[in-house]
Order: sequence, then structure tokens, then C-alpha cells
Amino acid sequence: MKLIEPILEFHAELKQIRRAIHSNPELSYEEVQTAELVAQKLTDWGIPVIRGLGGTGIVGVIKNGTSSRAVGIRADMDALPLQEHNTFAHRSKNEGKMHACGHDGHTTMLLGAAHYLSKHRNFDGTVYVIFQPAEEGAGGAKAMMDDGLFEQCPMEAVFGMHNWPGAKAGCLGVVSGPMMASSNEFELTIQGKGSHAAQPHMSIDPIMVAVQIAQSWQTIVSRNTSPIDSAVLSITQIHSGSATNIVPDSASMIGTVRTFTIPVLDMIETRMREIAEHTAAAFNASVKFQFRRNYPPLINHVIETEFAKGVMKEVVGERGVLTSVEPTMGSEDFAFMLLEKPGCYVFIGNGDGGHRESGHGLGPCNLHNPSYDFNDDLLPIGASYWVTLAERFLSSPPLR
Ligand SMILES: [Zn+2]
Ligand SMILES: [Zn+2]
Repeated sequence: MKLIEPILEFHAELKQIRRAIHSNPELSYEEVQTAELVAQKLTDWGIPVIRGLGGTGIVGVIKNGTSSRAVGIRADMDALPLQEHNTFAHRSKNEGKMHACGHDGHTTMLLGAAHYLSKHRNFDGTVYVIFQPAEEGAGGAKAMMDDGLFEQCPMEAVFGMHNWPGAKAGCLGVVSGPMMASSNEFELTIQGKGSHAAQPHMSIDPIMVAVQIAQSWQTIVSRNTSPIDSAVLSITQIHSGSATNIVPDSASMIGTVRTFTIPVLDMIETRMREIAEHTAAAFNASVKFQFRRNYPPLINHVIETEFAKGVMKEVVGERGVLTSVEPTMGSEDFAFMLLEKPGCYVFIGNGDGGHRESGHGLGPCNLHNPSYDFNDDLLPIGASYWVTLAERFLSSPPLR
């Protein structure tokens, strides 16, 4: 490992910052105090700050020399609506809210990098450190972009990172191309005709229609999707009916679709609509089909990923680079940034949970678990990766 010495010397302070953020978790778009803490630190370190992008989003602008080249690094700041089970000193003080995804750590690693970059300035150009709100489902990355992030802060590429529990602490891993899935929700309402259950011939039974549609939808992944592509179509709720002797009037089905590419997503949405409409028509029922695209697939750009791999090797050594990372069906709103800018998103191993202090909950140290805690050992590793990446990026010839 080749960690940056002054960052290692700053570890104790970073740990304090991370724990302060952990103990004061704020939900999506409510990251007022977290954003204030970030802005205050950046200001204290002499870094100009842009506030209020996408609501509570913050960008620090670290400029040096005369080059017009620029790179962006992004962290997320929001917590989850979850009651923490840990009882150690830095547990959440906010009832029902918890940093159970490690965004406290992501924010702190980027602050650590910003601190070093502002003090040492071994680069020529601009490093934008982006602290976004609302990653957990509410699209804070998109909100910052809609507020002009890339116009106000023109950058050649943008990079992101997420901790990954289970993977060896401090190892870095990446997948070139699709790495995380698109996340989408659907809701189907079937309008039939209710009747006495003893007179089914007087009804148009929406439950029978729902069952037929549910069955047929399961052929979309198995029969319409290329076996080389991956996709998930899960029906997670079916609601209908109120009694044993009533054929209900309507039924509804809700669920999620995940894909790694937009063409596969387009195809699945189209086939779901066709199957629902035609099946309902065959039974003289009608349907209302709603399909909501939340996060697009996260697709790492090949050139930037190769560059990032070089930096990973430099910082954590050949053996510290995870070769077994697989794409995941989870989703991540950094995907919006990668649709507009080239870049790369990596995982940093959070370890097996052995780092947790006594007083941790009895659950596993997994993301979105009430017994989770970010591993503070990663702070200087992540910060060193960011600094090395920014310095190498700005001193190499443009990648494109
Ligand atoms: Zn999360
Ligand atoms: Zn997360």
C-alpha cells in the first residue's frame, strides 16, 4: 500500500469527523447540518464553496496553477430512515435515522482528500469535490445536475466510490462497463367487474386476469431477453378482494424491474405493457399500467476505468485490487452522472465487521442493516485513492 503520509497523520481528525456525521444522520434533502459541516471544513481549509446545488448539495473548488483541465470526485451525504441498533458512543442521536450505508465515511474520505489537495497542491488544474444529497432513492445526483452542476463546474470526467461490506477492508474493486443495475418500479391496476362469488358468470374476475398477466410477465426475462443479458422482473405485491363470497371489482400488482442496459429496459417495459393490455382485453377487463424509471444502470466507461485501475494498483498494490468483483442488481444514482460525463465508480472493501466497536448491534455489518458501521480504517485509504487519482488525472494527457 502506498498511502499518503500527511493523510495518515490526519487520520485521527478524519475519524472524529466521520463519527460526528454518523451520530447526526439526516435524510435525503434534509442534510442541512451535514452540508454545513462540509462547507465549514472546506472554508476553514481555504477552499471556495458552491452551496445549494440540488437543495443541500455542496461543491468545493480546489484550483491550482494555470491549466483549464478539471476533474470531479463525488461523495454522498444522506442517511436512511432506520433505527440504529448500535449503542457505542458515536451511534445515531436522531431517532429513526441512521448512516447505515456508509455515506458518513464517503463524505469524510472526500473531505480528507480535499484537505490534502488544498494544503499540498501538487497539481495543475481544478479538482471539484462534489458532496451530493439524497442518494438513497431520491436522485440527489440528478438534482445537482438539473441545478447546473456540470455547467458551473465543467469537468472532463467524474469519479465515485462506495464501501462494500464483506470485501477485504481497504481493497478496491471495479467492473468495466455495467456495474450496477437500473432500478424501476411498476404498478398495474386491473379493472374487472365485481359480483357475488356464487355467480362468477356475472363478473369479470380481476384476480384471474392478474394471475394470467403475472404468469405471462415471467416469460419476458426467460423468452424475450437474450440469455447473455441479465434482468430481474419481480412482482412484489398483489392486492385484491375483501371477502370469501365476493368477486372483487379490481386488482393491483406492484413490483420492480432491474436491468444493466437501457435497450433491455425499453424492451421489458414495452412487453409488460403489451402483455397486460392484450391479456386484459382477452378477458374483457381493462388495465392502467404505470412504469417509473428511478435510477439508470451504472455503466463505467472503459477508458476511465482502465485509468482508475492504474491508480488503484498504485495506492493499494496489485494484491489490494479485487479481481472478483461482480456487477450487482443494486442501483446507485451516480449512474446519472456517468450518463453525462465519462468516469468510473469503484467499491472499497469495508471488511467483515470485525472493526466494529463493542456495543455494536447483533446483526451483520451489511449495508442498510441496523448493526452496520463504516470502517474508519478506510478513511486514509479512500482519501489517498482520491488524491492520487486527481493528481494523476490532471498530470496525464487527456484520456479523450
Ligand atoms: Zn444505501
Ligand atoms: Zn449507499
